[in-house]
Order: sequence, then C-alpha cells, then structure tokens
Amino acid sequence: MTDRGEFGRILAENERYTESFDRSALTPAPLSGLAIVACMDARLDVEEALGLRTGDAHIIRNAGGIATDDVIRSLIVSQQLLGTDEIVVIGHTRCGLLDADETALRARLSAATGRDFGLEFGSFDDLEARVRASVEQLRTHPWLKPVPVHGLIFDVSTGRLHEVA
Ligand SMILES: [Zn+2]
Repeated sequence: MTDRGEFGRILAENERYTESFDRSALTPAPLSGLAIVACMDARLDVEEALGLRTGDAHIIRNAGGIATDDVIRSLIVSQQLLGTDEIVVIGHTRCGLLDADETALRARLSAATGRDFGLEFGSFDDLEARVRASVEQLRTHPWLKPVPVHGLIFDVSTGRLHEVA
C-alpha cells in the first residue's frame, strides 16, 4: 500500500473495523435518550469517559462545546425526530478557548487573507460560568423541549467529571 500518511492509516483501521462490525441493526434513535454537547478537544473521549457505546447517544461537538445556532439545530432534530429527552453539556479544563485572544486571532486571519473576519470564536475566561450559561440557554430555549439539562466539566488531568449545573 502506498503511504498516505495518517489518512491512509485511518482507512486501514476502517478495514479492520468492518471485520467485526455488528451494529447494522441499530436505529438512528439513541438508546440512552441522551444528547450530549461537548467541546471537540482531542483529550475528551466522550464515549469512553461516560461509558457510552455506539448507538447510545447523540454527541454534538464544536470548539468550546458552545450552544451555537447549529448546535440548537442539531438538538431540535435530536429531540423532534429521534426522541432524545435529556441533554448534557460538557466543558473541560485547559480548553483552547479559555482566555483565547480573539482580537489577535481575527487580526492574524485578516493579515493572512487580506479580508476582515467578523466571526465570534466564543472564547471565555470562566469555565464554570461558560458551561452554566450554555445549560441555561438550552433550558430556556423556546424551540427545545423542557427536558433535564445538566452541566459537567471534564478535568483533562484526572479524567473526572464535575457537575456544575
Ligand atoms: Zn475545549
């Protein structure tokens, strides 16, 4: 096989995965009824940390685990079409967005591309407050069902989850 680097490696891993694949009977509705909103951080393995298996939960991830419009969109699909009835928001220690300098990032992008860049990256300086704000937003969002919403912080040093909302 020609060396395609990391991309080649993941395709080879998938070949091995199909050899023991036994989940073809799963339906799209998550078995646990959970929808999880989490940061994309590579150190946070949501399934492993929460004891979830394939088919158990919707896991919606982005930088910061922030309840953006697109996360809301996914949660509506999750609740309305696929029957989830509980939400868990997970932030984590040492997040890349914690104390990130958005002004500098925007200036760097503008300098590199010659175009102004107005995107909000969602940086924050208080992790617990950030998670609580997302939880509150999801609890009160008019288009989401009034389901239980929990807030957790994952400690990347210990693997432990702390409940903050
Ligand atoms: Zn993060």
